[in-house]
Amino acid sequence: MNDKKVTLHTHQSVWHPCTQMKHHEAFPPILITRGEGVWLYGADGKRYLDTISSWWVNLFGHCNPRINAAIIDQLSKLEHAMLAGLIHEPVVELSERLSAITPGNLSHCFYASDGSSANEIALKMSFHYWQQCGFPDKTQFVNLQNGYHGETLGALSVTDVPLFRQIYAPLLRPAHPVPTPDWRVAETGTTPETHALKAAAELESYLAQHHASTAALILEPLIQGAGGMGMYHPVYLQRAREICDTYRVHLIADEIAVGFGRTGTLFACEQAGITPDFMCLAKGLSGGYLPLSVVMTNDAVYRAFYRDETNQAFLHSHSHSGNILACRAALATLDIIEQDNVIETNRKKTDFLNQCLQPVREHPNVKNFRNCGMIWAFEVDNPQPDFTHRFAQKGLEQQLLIRPMGNSVYIMPPYIINEEEMELMARGILHILNRI
Ligand SMILES: *Cc1c(COP(=O)(O)O)cnc(C)c1O
Repeated sequence: MNDKKVTLHTHQSVWHPCTQMKHHEAFPPILITRGEGVWLYGADGKRYLDTISSWWVNLFGHCNPRINAAIIDQLSKLEHAMLAGLIHEPVVELSERLSAITPGNLSHCFYASDGSSANEIALKMSFHYWQQCGFPDKTQFVNLQNGYHGETLGALSVTDVPLFRQIYAPLLRPAHPVPTPDWRVAETGTTPETHALKAAAELESYLAQHHASTAALILEPLIQGAGGMGMYHPVYLQRAREICDTYRVHLIADEIAVGFGRTGTLFACEQAGITPDFMCLAKGLSGGYLPLSVVMTNDAVYRAFYRDETNQAFLHSHSHSGNILACRAALATLDIIEQDNVIETNRKKTDFLNQCLQPVREHPNVKNFRNCGMIWAFEVDNPQPDFTHRFAQKGLEQQLLIRPMGNSVYIMPPYIINEEEMELMARGILHILNRI
């Protein structure tokens, strides 16, 4: 290391994700030097409360001593070894523990490095399964309107957020989106449950017609994150499970954003009492520390690939599949979830923050205020074209790192947030709403 100063205005060697780089002329990126708990510390001497858990990955704060200790311990023994032909204890322990805590019979774990790759794997595995089981026409996928499953070409093919998708449409597979159960788009006077049932009926009529060509339905259980934190009634998941069973179609649950307690249960599927055929996990899996993702599936899928022929195996690989440091971070994360009774503790925090946010909920410009577990969201009635940037900028002035998606403001804080920090966050948001 040397003392060379990073000059951010001219520092264009870094091309940032999800960013129009020209906007950094007006809003330069914040130089972060340190993190502790919910706080990120800038080189400017200021601190920012990470209200969105650094893109939804962080569960137990930055530089969590227990996760740090696990990684440091592992680092002195082995940093990485390939997972083909080799195996290590942390990946075995992680797979067994994940199977034990996820719903139903998801007894096999296939690892990758990020969420998009996990979804790619689930799509490929589902297709390949049907190929090997005598259903060669099942080559299509059905997804939900406004759903998000990542940015790689396969994952983007089943993503229905125009901002990310539109320009790449010619590169993508044919899309088959069905109506979303998100209650924001329900007709006035319709309950979330009725709206969800109506959307499920449309899924059923789609599959009644197209089941022979459909391998899988992919969805985000309970909350459509990148689509603006749209929330829906769990009855949709119950019906989707039944409909998929009726029409012999796999159900892929993308719990990448909602897994590990975000929705108030350890996994969102639990709230509907269902088991998917594939469950994709990433983000919080490693406590947000290291890139790690997993696709979990059942024995029937696993057995379909268990053959003598090499080309009937699932020949998919990522260089860092099952990375041992990431597995240790994940095991430390699972330890914290168990030892700290996190689901119960979070329930109290949810109640407390709902109280703090009452004035926000009642604010005249706030619409569709909603909460599920440790996620809150609302739309702000504000026609300014640069609302998103202005809100984020005003957030920084209130010590809040907050990034609305269009006019949808959401918070998704690390679970270790305390009452004082929750009050500060709620006060800051109200302050911004009154001045934007
Ligand atoms: C973030 C996200 C992904 C993509 O995960 P990456 O690790 O960013 O590739 C996929 N699905 C959902 C629901 C997500 O929220």
